[in-house]
Amino acid sequence: MTRTHRFDTLAAHAGVAPDPASGALAPPLQLATTFEHAPDAGLPQDYLYQRYGSPNQAQLEQVLATLDGAARSMFFATGMTAGTTAMQALPPGAELLIADDTYFGYRAVGAKWLERWSVRHRVVDMTDLDAVRAAISPDTRLLWAETPSNPLLKVCDIAALADIAHAAGARLLVDGTFATPALQQPLALGADIVLHSATKYLGGHGDVMGGVLAFADDDGFAAECHELRRQTGNTASPFAAWLVLRGLRTLPVRVERHCRNAQAVAEFLQAHPKVEAVHYPGLPGHPGHAVAARQMQGGFGGMLSFEVAGGREAALAVAGRLALFTNATSLGSTESLVEHRASIEGAQSASPQGLLRLSVGLEDARDLVDDLAQALA
Ligand SMILES: *Cc1c(COP(=O)(O)O)cnc(C)c1O
Repeated sequence: MTRTHRFDTLAAHAGVAPDPASGALAPPLQLATTFEHAPDAGLPQDYLYQRYGSPNQAQLEQVLATLDGAARSMFFATGMTAGTTAMQALPPGAELLIADDTYFGYRAVGAKWLERWSVRHRVVDMTDLDAVRAAISPDTRLLWAETPSNPLLKVCDIAALADIAHAAGARLLVDGTFATPALQQPLALGADIVLHSATKYLGGHGDVMGGVLAFADDDGFAAECHELRRQTGNTASPFAAWLVLRGLRTLPVRVERHCRNAQAVAEFLQAHPKVEAVHYPGLPGHPGHAVAARQMQGGFGGMLSFEVAGGREAALAVAGRLALFTNATSLGSTESLVEHRASIEGAQSASPQGLLRLSVGLEDARDLVDDLAQALA
C-alpha cells in the first residue's frame, strides 16, 4: 500500500496488516497505559506510557498522514485541543492572524487566553487577500484559515494564502473539518498544517471525539506540538483512535452521499420563498463557488446554512417543526442535524439570528427535502 494508490483505496486499506498474534483483520484494541522496559532501559517497541503514545494511536496517525499527504500526523483528544496546541506552540510575542468565521471555540480561546500565552492575534476576513496582506506584521507567525467555514461556509483560497504566509515567513494552518481529506488536500495546495475535528466526518458516527494536526514537514514546530501533547496530556484514548480509524474506512463513500444530499437540500432551499439566503459552496451563486470548485474535488461537503425570513423567532420555529433533522450541535454523523448557531455560540457569535445550520446526513434526500418543505410551510 503506497501513496501511488488512489484516495478511496488508501482509505479502505492503508495501515492494515493481519494481527501477527491472532491473524485478525480488524486491528486489535490495546488499552495498556504502560509498556515494559528492556533490561538496558530501552523501549523495545518505542512505547513507554499511554500519554506519550500507544499502538492504536500510532496506527491511526500513519493512516491519517497517508490520507492528508502529510509528513507527520498527530491525533489529539478533541479538535479544540489539537488547535490550541498549535496556538500554544507559537513563540512568545508571535502574532496569529485568524479568520473572522473561524470555528467559534478558537475565537473564544483567542479572545480570552492568547494574550496570557504571550501571543497576539488579529481577526481578518481570509477571503479578502488584500486585507490579509495588510494585516501581516513582522511578528506574524501563523495564518489560521478555515474553508469551508463554520457556520457561514465562507471559502478562502488556500494556495493564495500559502503564498502570502510564506512570503512573510509565516505558516498557513487550514481547518479542513467541513471538507475532510476526501474533498480537499490543503497540504498539496501549499498549506503547512491541516487541522481536523475528527469528532465530525472522520469518526463519522457521532460516538467519538478527536482532533488531528497534519504537518507538511516534520519540522521543529511539529516536534514542539508533539512535546506539548505529551506533557499536557492532550492525548486521546486508544479506543478513540480505534473508532476514528474504523470511521476512516468508509469516509469516501459517506462523504459522496453527504455531498449529494446537501446539494439537493441547498437547491430546494434556494428556490423557497421563505428562505432569504443559502450558504453552500456548491451553488453557482455562492461567492466562493469558483475557488471551491478549483480546490475541492468530488463535491462541496455535507454542511450548509440558510437564513429564514423573519429572523430569530422564525428560524427557531422552523427548527422546532423539523422531524428528520434533530436539533442538536455537532455535525458529520449519519443522521441529519439542525442548529440555531447564534443561540449556542454566545458572546463570540457572528451568526445572523435567522440562520440555521444543517449537517446533512445519509438519509434519502427526498425525505430530507419533504421534511424541510413541511417545516417551512
Ligand atoms: C467541531 C469543530 C471544531 C472543534 O472540534 P471538537 O472535536 O469539537 O473539539 C473545530 N473546527 C471545526 C470547523 C469544527 O466544526
